[in-house]
Amino acid sequence: MRNVFRNLPSVNQLLDSAPLKKMVESVNHRVVVDGVRTFLDELRDQVSTTTEDVVIPTAHELAEKIAKWLATEERPYLRPVINATGIILHTGLGRAPLAKPAIDAMNEIADGYASVEVDLATGNRGQRTKSVERLLCELTGAEAAAVVNNNAGATLLTLSAIASGKEVIVSRGQLIEIGGSYRLPKVMECSGAILREVGTTNKTHESDYEDAINEETGALLKVHPSNFEVVGFTKSVSLKEMVRIASAHRLPVIDDIGSGALVDFSKYGLTDEPIAAESIRDGADVILFSGDKLVGGPQCGIICGKKIWIEKILKNPLMRALRVDKITLAALATTLGLYRNLEQAEQKIPLLRMLSMPVENLKLRAEKLAGQIGHLDCIDSCEVVEEASMLGGGSLPTQTIPTWCVAITANGSSIDQFAAKLRNSTPSVIGRVQKERLLLDLRTISPAQDLHLVTAFEHLDSGENR
Ligand SMILES: *Cc1c(COP(=O)(O)O)cnc(C)c1O
Repeated sequence: MRNVFRNLPSVNQLLDSAPLKKMVESVNHRVVVDGVRTFLDELRDQVSTTTEDVVIPTAHELAEKIAKWLATEERPYLRPVINATGIILHTGLGRAPLAKPAIDAMNEIADGYASVEVDLATGNRGQRTKSVERLLCELTGAEAAAVVNNNAGATLLTLSAIASGKEVIVSRGQLIEIGGSYRLPKVMECSGAILREVGTTNKTHESDYEDAINEETGALLKVHPSNFEVVGFTKSVSLKEMVRIASAHRLPVIDDIGSGALVDFSKYGLTDEPIAAESIRDGADVILFSGDKLVGGPQCGIICGKKIWIEKILKNPLMRALRVDKITLAALATTLGLYRNLEQAEQKIPLLRMLSMPVENLKLRAEKLAGQIGHLDCIDSCEVVEEASMLGGGSLPTQTIPTWCVAITANGSSIDQFAAKLRNSTPSVIGRVQKERLLLDLRTISPAQDLHLVTAFEHLDSGENR
């Protein structure tokens, strides 16, 4: 065994080879030296634990292997991914892809200076979110608007500005948790407002709100239960009713509508999603929603409502802590602008494009894809199946959209191993594992990605990724 180790080239010998010299130029000397050492250590470990005869590669072969491995290791943690899960607003995959015009606007604004807080007409200091306020008012019918980092931030800021130290009345059926760290009672605690729960999990009545109002009350809060549904013996109070009760006591109603539909999504077969303009029309004082859910824009939290409340919100110190940058503003303004013409929005905003894609098109693409990858060695069987996509991102949990998928069984590896290999291929592809099969859902794959997807599978066959 010792002899085998003696035949290993030295670190310096390897660093002198062409492939690793090139690596030093493109990365950095220390990183490559560390990489070579780690690789050699692992190789020694492997050799000393195996009972089989080991053929040590030549110095040149070894250098090429190490360079390839280092190139894989040096890939950025954040990389583009082909979303074949069928979950349209996948929070783990960054929610809504942006419209091309929004990306162009981000590029233009990122490239230099911009009128972020300068009013070019007067030369005076301007309000940061002025650029999107007019569009938000136009699309929702609100008097004023503000934008912050995300909807959790919008909720925190609004509660802090309007009801810090006061009681905020919320139905027990609406005390939601939205994946990970967002839990409404905790956000409320951070804002300094005091949660006043009313009603029960399944039923809350008008009188529950009326009875809870006292001198300590600061606001009534309605929260859209985005990611669950209570069915059966249920009752909730409509926004209109809440507004009637609150205004008798001169109290504001805050409506967290969650996904922020700017158009009626029942057109795409998705019902029950609150529409921003309807909430304003029904009298909400302030509405809150995400920019990267049904709006199909960048991550941000949108606050629209009556001027007196928005002014208070803009003056709160948390506004500064949660403010958005010029790139987000550029993307949001451009995305909102596309909604002025629904046909244009459907063509250009990927979210709406995915939702309105006819199911026959998805079937044709699935058939073509199956034909292109079915013969590969890594695939055992491959067929086209009718399936259901989910909106995701905490929107409409019980509703699905018809779709077509390519269903694959793997050759020579478990389905989880196969999914992992595909995730680490180039490009990275994330599918949906279901009953020992990997499904590739065409609804969330853009037609331009079909060929890249084939490439990712071909890389698996050629063993180019690990
Ligand atoms: C998604 C959601 C949130 C959180 O929004 P983020 O933009 O992810 O911070 C809050 N409330 C509701 C009702 C939601 O659906």
